[in-house]
Amino acid sequence: MLAPWPAIPSRPSPKAVPLEFQSTTLIHMPFTPYHLGPGAAIALSLPRRFDIPVLISAGLVVDLEVPIIALIKSEHYIPRYGHTLLVSAGVGLVWALLLIPFHGFLGRLTRVLRLPYEFGLVKTLLSGVVGAWSHVLVDGLYRTDAGVFWPSNMRNPLCRFGREDAELFCLLSLATAAGLYVVIAWRARKEVG
Ligand SMILES: [Zn+2]
Repeated sequence: MLAPWPAIPSRPSPKAVPLEFQSTTLIHMPFTPYHLGPGAAIALSLPRRFDIPVLISAGLVVDLEVPIIALIKSEHYIPRYGHTLLVSAGVGLVWALLLIPFHGFLGRLTRVLRLPYEFGLVKTLLSGVVGAWSHVLVDGLYRTDAGVFWPSNMRNPLCRFGREDAELFCLLSLATAAGLYVVIAWRARKEVG
């Protein structure tokens, strides 16, 4: 028996989350490019500690849940369990395991971009979890129906913003990631030269 989903709280601020975002039928772009920013910024902040392609892609696959729920077409509300810290950690781990056979290719791709890459099992698994969590926490900034801490009923204290704020945060993260990339690639070029 699954734990009850946390009650949808009242609107957290005047920058209210529109009602359509409190439904699973919302139009929510799968693989939303906004999630690239936070994942890339985290990965490029510690490029040798994380498996960069795994972390960034894990931040995108979490939204696979959205079209899956839409396909089920239930009249009842289906909680987004994949958007909880607990289940998304599992999603991130599975995704990281699925990518292990491709680590040779991912390494070549990453090095072509002048980024460091060294495969490590723990590093890869950790990157999968961190990438998935980056997605859940960003969605949790504005989604009132995000049961981030499920199976706990604890309300999400991060849910204080509007969707536009979350998108702005993602864009700023992407700009930060771009700046970090330029520095890392420039240093790598200097080392080679
Ligand atoms: Zn999402």
